[in-house]
Amino acid sequence: MKVEFTKELTGDAFRDLRIAVNERDNNLITENFNAEQIQALEKLKTRPEHIYLFEEYRLLLEMSAQTKKLWKPNQILKIYFFGGQDNRTKRVLDYASIWSKHCSIQFQATNSIEEAQLRIAFQAPSSWSYIGTDALGVPRNEPTINFGWLSDDLPERDYKQVVLHEFGHALGLIHEHQSPAASVKWNKYLVYWHFWENHKWTKADVDRNIFQEFETNSTQHSALDRLSIMGYYIPTQFTLDGQEFPMNYDLSEVDKKYIGELYPNLILS
Ligand SMILES: [Zn+2]
Repeated sequence: MKVEFTKELTGDAFRDLRIAVNERDNNLITENFNAEQIQALEKLKTRPEHIYLFEEYRLLLEMSAQTKKLWKPNQILKIYFFGGQDNRTKRVLDYASIWSKHCSIQFQATNSIEEAQLRIAFQAPSSWSYIGTDALGVPRNEPTINFGWLSDDLPERDYKQVVLHEFGHALGLIHEHQSPAASVKWNKYLVYWHFWENHKWTKADVDRNIFQEFETNSTQHSALDRLSIMGYYIPTQFTLDGQEFPMNYDLSEVDKKYIGELYPNLILS
């Protein structure tokens, strides 16, 4: 699982941080850093070869880096539902709240479109979401998440799968199969054909959702996690290097751990 990051800092690989510290120092935005974080950064600059320093200060630094697509830890995200609240919206909230058990972001329905950070529509045919705080740039009268196939007779596990996946995007996560750690060799013509036949996806849709690989220096990512809810089902015929991704219906152990690192609970009880 990964999250998009700005290029100023970060990457969970030591190499990325070293590049940030050594070569992109001028791009580091430190105005929001507290004294402790500044100190951590100074230590890293003098001893960038020490990976343990990176591990030790990684979270401290990340929290203040310009992570434009991440919400603030402990934030309550208000959700407006086009068409009002009903049984369907309650099910969406119930499944979305599974993420909240593993991180400090909470979701809450609101009838006020003005105060909502996220706006959900249920328009066929596709399901999608903006990534993290990109939602804030969407015009007020438009959805930031769409669920295209949440009918009452949809099997429970499929309902849960799509809600968890799209809310993963809303929390800033990108597709597992587009991780720099995946480097899939795609059987492109078969994949284009499959998604056109089954979902009427254009070539551009397939490129964006499947083939486009995110760069190491713009993402913070775990080692490849084939069990992540953020992966698509990719059968081995879709690839030329034998890779495949199973259909996942729930958060993986890595998903749970990682979302907690991205949104730690900062309120001490
Ligand atoms: Zn997706």
